[in-house]
Amino acid sequence: MNRKSVLMFLPVMLLASCSGTKDSASKDKLTIYTSFYPIYDFATRIAKDKATVINITPAGSEPHDYAPTTKEVLGMEDADLILVNGLGLENWTDSLPESFNKKVATVTDGIETEKINGTVDPHVWLNPLNAIKEMENITSYLISVDNINAEYYKGNLDDATYLFTSLDNSFKETTAAFTNKHIVVSHAAFGYLCNHYDLEQIYVDGISPDDEPTAKALEEVIANVKKYNITTIFSEELVSSEIAESIAKKTGCRVETLNPLEGLSEDELQYEDYVSVMVNNMQKLKAACEE
Ligand SMILES: [Zn+2]
Repeated sequence: MNRKSVLMFLPVMLLASCSGTKDSASKDKLTIYTSFYPIYDFATRIAKDKATVINITPAGSEPHDYAPTTKEVLGMEDADLILVNGLGLENWTDSLPESFNKKVATVTDGIETEKINGTVDPHVWLNPLNAIKEMENITSYLISVDNINAEYYKGNLDDATYLFTSLDNSFKETTAAFTNKHIVVSHAAFGYLCNHYDLEQIYVDGISPDDEPTAKALEEVIANVKKYNITTIFSEELVSSEIAESIAKKTGCRVETLNPLEGLSEDELQYEDYVSVMVNNMQKLKAACEE
C-alpha cells in the first residue's frame, strides 16, 4: 500500500471497529457535526447533498475557547459522524459526559505536525495540501458510514483535490516573488502556511488568541518589525485589533486583516468559503510583502 492509500484507509480501519456501517438506503441524509469552519467547508465539499452538516462553533466565534452547548452534545449523540481537528484545538472533547458513546473522528490523522514553543501547533488547515489530506480522511470516514455512495464521495474528493492543488500552485507562484518573507500576525495561526511557502510568521499572541503577550514580547515584535522593514501588521476579524493598532502606531505600519479561517461571520458565510478566503489572504500577503 503506498502512502496515499494508507492515509485513505487508515481512518476507515480505525472507525470500522467502533461504529457499525449504516444502511444508507433506508436513510435520507447523513448528519455530520463539525467542530469549526474549515472542517465544515471540507465535509460539505465531499458529502454535498448526501449530508446535513452542522457546524458547532457558531458564526463569528473561534474554536480555541469554544465548547458545545448541552443541546449540541445531545444532537451529536444522534449524528452519523462527528469530525474534529484534534491536536489540542477542541478542548471540549476531553470533557464530554461519561454517557457520551459516539466516536469522535479526527480529520488531521496522518498529517505531519509542527511545534511552537514545545506545543503542537493545531493550525494545519492553513496549508492547502494539509486541507487535501483532511478531505481524504473525511472521505474515508464518510465511506465507513455510507459505503453505498463511496464513488460519489471519491468523485467529490477528486474535484476538491484539483481545486486545492490549483490554490496551492497559485500561492507558491505568488509567494515566490515576495521581497519580504516576514509577516507579523496577531496569534500564531500561520505556521503551516508560512513554512510551506517559505515565509516566517512573527506573532503577537501565542497559539491561542487568548494568550496575551508580555511587554517584553511586544518589544521584541516591534524590534523585528524594524529589523525586517515590515510595513503591515496583520490582525484578525475575530480578535481585538487593539494590540496590532498599538504596534502599528509605534512603528508607522498599517493594520490589515488576515483570516485564519477559524470562523466566518454570518455575512461571510453567505458568499465566502475556504478557497475564496485563502485567495483573499494571498492578495493581502502580496500587498504586504512585495513593497
Ligand atoms: Zn488559532
